[in-house]
Amino acid sequence: MANKTKSKSKSRSEGESGKVYLVGAGPGDLGLVTLRAKECIEQADVIVHDHLANPEMLGWAQDSAEIIYVGKRAGANSLSQQEINALLIEKAGARKQVVRLKGGDPFVFGRGAEEAKAIVDAGIGFEIVPGITSAIAGPAYAGIPVTHRAENSHVTFFTGHEDPAKTESAIDYAALAKLGGTQVMLMGVERLEPITREMLKQGVREDLPVALVRWATTGRQETLTGTLQDIAQRAVDHGFEAPAVAVFGEVVALRESLNWYEKRPLSGKRIVVTRSRKQAGALSGKLRALGAHVFELPTIRIEPPTDLREFAELVQDAHAYDWIVFTSANGVEAFFEIFFKLFDDAREIGGTRIAAIGPVTAQQVKDFHLHVDLQPDEFVAEAVVGEFRKQGVENLRILLVRAEKGRDVLPKQLSALGAIVDEGFAYRTVPETRDTTGARGQLLEEGADLITFTSSSTVEHFLALDLPWPKEMRVASIGPITSKTARDRGLKIDVEASCHDIDGLVQAIRDFFER
Ligand code: SAH
Repeated sequence: MANKTKSKSKSRSEGESGKVYLVGAGPGDLGLVTLRAKECIEQADVIVHDHLANPEMLGWAQDSAEIIYVGKRAGANSLSQQEINALLIEKAGARKQVVRLKGGDPFVFGRGAEEAKAIVDAGIGFEIVPGITSAIAGPAYAGIPVTHRAENSHVTFFTGHEDPAKTESAIDYAALAKLGGTQVMLMGVERLEPITREMLKQGVREDLPVALVRWATTGRQETLTGTLQDIAQRAVDHGFEAPAVAVFGEVVALRESLNWYEKRPLSGKRIVVTRSRKQAGALSGKLRALGAHVFELPTIRIEPPTDLREFAELVQDAHAYDWIVFTSANGVEAFFEIFFKLFDDAREIGGTRIAAIGPVTAQQVKDFHLHVDLQPDEFVAEAVVGEFRKQGVENLRILLVRAEKGRDVLPKQLSALGAIVDEGFAYRTVPETRDTTGARGQLLEEGADLITFTSSSTVEHFLALDLPWPKEMRVASIGPITSKTARDRGLKIDVEASCHDIDGLVQAIRDFFER
């Protein structure tokens, strides 16, 4: 059991009793989780999860939540069902709000009912949050509708967990054969040979279409099709392993025209995102939408500056400057957080003009309903200097809102142009020491095709983690400054965005894989 306590959870108020939420985590795609599931995760004191629940959703948990992994993983012993039940009861008994995250739907196989029963027997309150089951979503993401009016009018779900040769097997294959329709099997890809043999023996036709979908709805989804006669052998030949759902029935043929998910530009590509947890979403979301299997491995975290008071004083005097230059979206956010604590009227900023580097930074300013007066075409500090040189800034007062320990290009060169420059350190970038979602382990176990760097600090902090480098992993950089840092550290850049923002990076990655 990997037991990770981020920090001791605070004890609940007297009288409030613990509860267990059996929550469906959906089949894998983060977008296929219910709003209720997300709410439960956000509020949980303890989260008990196993290997089929997408670990990215643990990122929604409070920092103080205790996160307990109880699944199978190479090298680690998994807990028995009894031990899991006991753990849930113990935590809820200690007045914790416990989320038991289960892949797919908690009541579709996977022992959710046993857990619920144990919880009730212990006199503990519980709730069920249904989830999208892999039994339906898996086929759907492979382009296979489980029903189609022209083909079938009923669907059967069965478990392949049991050996059909077992005399006590609960599955009546003769009845299944007679029933026809669509049949979806969970578990048991390892037992396909005896199962298909049994189906054939019961008279199901040899050329019945069959599809296997593994890691459905995730960036590593793969589908293998065949017939009842040859699918078991094909699975062996392709090393097709669990977790997979198997679909038996005429509907499988519809995949030929309805397969949508596996045809996206980045399907099957494993991409690492190293931005801070808070910022990763925009990049990860875009890559996922193109089909990539993204793992967020935040290397940095944004914290308040060492001297917040000093920064606040500069913010208070903002109106006295001719220009405020924002170099990053983080800077904008930190600035206005303080600004609106000090003032309740945006006009307090006076006639100050605003410059922003990069469209995301500019957008962040516009989100506060302020006009951006200067936004150089190129998203680097040098471009701002170029613009100011053209305009002339002699004796103008400029406030630079920036990160601690950033580059010194701007203050030096603007001073050289005769401007009076004050530097406002709005935030600092610190190494992310937590690995809530287990992404580091995932990188080691599964490797990756590409790692993305969106700033020099992501490069430096990633290398500081000293993780073994998967040999097939290429490097994508957002622009020349980041690339230079990476090259200086001995990395080879395979992809560099020509437009230095998230959209530009995504486009460059797309072009790279399409080539
Ligand atoms: N409660 C889960 C099923 C748990 S049993 C649900 O509703 O989906 C575990 C089995 O579910 C696996 O052996 C596999 O057959 C199936 N499964 C779960 N997630 C899957 C996925 N992403 N892709 C393919 N099969 C999956």
